[in-house]
Amino acid sequence: MMGPASQGSALRTRSVIRIQDHDLREVFAVVTITVDKEMCKGCNLCIVSCPKAVLAVSQERGKAGFLVPEATNPKACTKCKNCEVICPDFAIVVEEG
Ligand code: SF4
Ligand code: SF4
Repeated sequence: MMGPASQGSALRTRSVIRIQDHDLREVFAVVTITVDKEMCKGCNLCIVSCPKAVLAVSQERGKAGFLVPEATNPKACTKCKNCEVICPDFAIVVEEG
């Protein structure tokens, strides 16, 4: 049986972030933010909890009929997981890679 994270493929955002430090070494980081539209009830707690304004309300409706969030600014994501922790329905997952 598939878990919540794997069910949310309908809204999967991948961002590639490149940062140059003072030694001119390249650091490579990738984040995947997945929202499970079956489980999301559109409460927007994840959106308001994000310190980097990564998430916003999309025009897509979830199973319950509410507009679900999307990652409109994924490059700003620090992978702090505030959104994941605050979601009462375990409907958003932030993953490395
Ligand atoms: S992990 Fe943190 S920075 Fe990234 S979308 Fe969630 S709350 Fe925002
Ligand atoms: S906190 Fe969870 S249920 Fe609420 S909008 Fe975000 S993903 Fe959906």
